[in-house]
Amino acid sequence: MAGGKYDFVVLGGGHNGLLTTIYLAKAGFKVCCLEALDEFGGGTRSGEVIPGYVADMGGMVHNMISKTPIVREDELGLFSKYGFEYCYLDSLFCSIFPDNTNLVMTKDIDESCNNIAKFSEKDAVTYRKFHDYMVNMLNVAGIGSQSPPPAYGAMMNVMSMSPEGREFQRVLNSSSQQIVEEWFESEQVRVTFTRWCTEMMIDPRAIGTASLLYFTAGLHDPDNPGAPFPKGGCINFVNALVACAEDNGADLFLNAWVDDITVEGGEVKSVRTKNGDEFFAENAVVSTIHIADVFEMLGDDAPADDSHYVKLLKHCDFAALNQAFALDTIPEFKTGPEVLNTFCIEAAPWEPEYLETFSTYTLGKFNPKLPLITIPSLHDPTRCPEGHSVVNVYSYAPWNLYGDWRNWEKHGDELKKQVWDFFKSMTTNITDDNVLGKWGLTPLEYQEWDPAFHEGDIGQIGMQPSQMYDMRPIVGKGHEYHGDIENLYFLGSSSHPGGGIAAGARAGVQKVLEDYGVDFRDVIRK
Ligand SMILES: Cc1cc2nc3c(=O)[nH]c(=O)nc-3n(C[C@H](O)[C@H](O)[C@H](O)COP(=O)(O)OP(=O)(O)OC[C@H]3O[C@@H](n4cnc5c(N)ncnc54)[C@H](O)[C@@H]3O)c2cc1C
Repeated sequence: MAGGKYDFVVLGGGHNGLLTTIYLAKAGFKVCCLEALDEFGGGTRSGEVIPGYVADMGGMVHNMISKTPIVREDELGLFSKYGFEYCYLDSLFCSIFPDNTNLVMTKDIDESCNNIAKFSEKDAVTYRKFHDYMVNMLNVAGIGSQSPPPAYGAMMNVMSMSPEGREFQRVLNSSSQQIVEEWFESEQVRVTFTRWCTEMMIDPRAIGTASLLYFTAGLHDPDNPGAPFPKGGCINFVNALVACAEDNGADLFLNAWVDDITVEGGEVKSVRTKNGDEFFAENAVVSTIHIADVFEMLGDDAPADDSHYVKLLKHCDFAALNQAFALDTIPEFKTGPEVLNTFCIEAAPWEPEYLETFSTYTLGKFNPKLPLITIPSLHDPTRCPEGHSVVNVYSYAPWNLYGDWRNWEKHGDELKKQVWDFFKSMTTNITDDNVLGKWGLTPLEYQEWDPAFHEGDIGQIGMQPSQMYDMRPIVGKGHEYHGDIENLYFLGSSSHPGGGIAAGARAGVQKVLEDYGVDFRDVIRK
């Protein structure tokens, strides 16, 4: 039997749960972290497709966390003390179009403009202005990602005081498609940029999706080392976090599936795991698991107003179908070798089909012609033997396939094959005979793989504008990181800035520490 008394009990051992645990432990508190599965990492796990061929099974590119002091300043010693390393690629994303032309966006703005000019000279000139405009807006766009988001009204007031803020208010009420149509004449350029925004897992024509465009501003920053991905796979990121948490005195538990919460006098007292262990929280319970699960555990103790909003939470517009292939060779793309220096190699249909595809996800339809391909093994020799490759082929997919999620059981393999066949058609040299081993998960399988990914939602809850900033996860309370039960916090994917390997918990833990009389700045100085 495990269990025991702690100052803080953290639910979930994904990267956000581990980071929360580390900061609280560093502050001198007695902390434990409870993970349901038999390994830590949640959505940031990697594994071997076959022995010697490593693939990331969830998150792949670490561009969001790389903007935080965790990476920029090695705030936790993950690199200097725990041996974690990134590999970097000059280009974060590129598109390959149906006629096998491509648009590669690299760190170098001149090179990127030359690439844009292949489609439109005018857009190449415009892109420099667009980039300056985005850089100006970045400070406003980043509100709430490195520190708690302000109350929504206060945020709007502050925004209304500067030209950038007023423009961002307009952007928050725009779709990414609307913004790119304001700037660019070429459909290839428009698709390339809105495609990046679809990483929010929302239709690029939905209001609010424009906000992600602004994060491309960092692309040409002279301090940008490139697109970061973990050397040897995400497992090394997770191992560094685990080692750091343990070094700071935290207790980490695997196979600790929390399924009950005890509330007394309006405060959380303890949580209980499926195997009967009880963990008491003297101060607070900090959840990084799916908020709906926590509210289900609260049952009648759930505050009515908060429950109302939790029930209204929506999932993203589409989920992920992801496959990894261990190949005995390196793919050669029909479009040319230049795309191989890009992390996210994105197949892009022409704009009408591209946009229509996003509409049809909500109708349960699937289109295999939009895979995002990553081949980290080309730039990280630790991932497979030389001359071979590990290829990730990641597709968007509806949760309710053909109107019902149960259809994934019946059609999952057939749709995986459609995506694989499409990938092969993009290359000159790949056939089924090159496959040494493979691995793949449908949205339904992702829900089992990470129990926080309800309905295959890789951000736990959707990133619609109505569920961001102070409205995530409980309207008007996002800046507090808790609802009416004041010692039950929601950090990580459940709070702004939402899903992704964004280390969002770093912002939330600042508020938790403040509530318990600790200045975050003192913690990171240690
Ligand atoms: C195929 C794929 C590709 C992706 N690509 C990228 C990418 O390139 N870049 C990027 O930034 N993001 C990417 N993401 C998204 C990213 O991986 C996730 O959003 C992120 O890992 C979420 O981290 P988290 O710590 O907030 O939550 P999670 O990682 O989901 O952690 C939650 C943890 O809680 C545990 N848990 C759940 N319920 C319980 C319970 N009752 N008791 C105890 N423990 C529980 C889970 O097992 C899990 O370990 C991708 C995701 C997928 C699936």
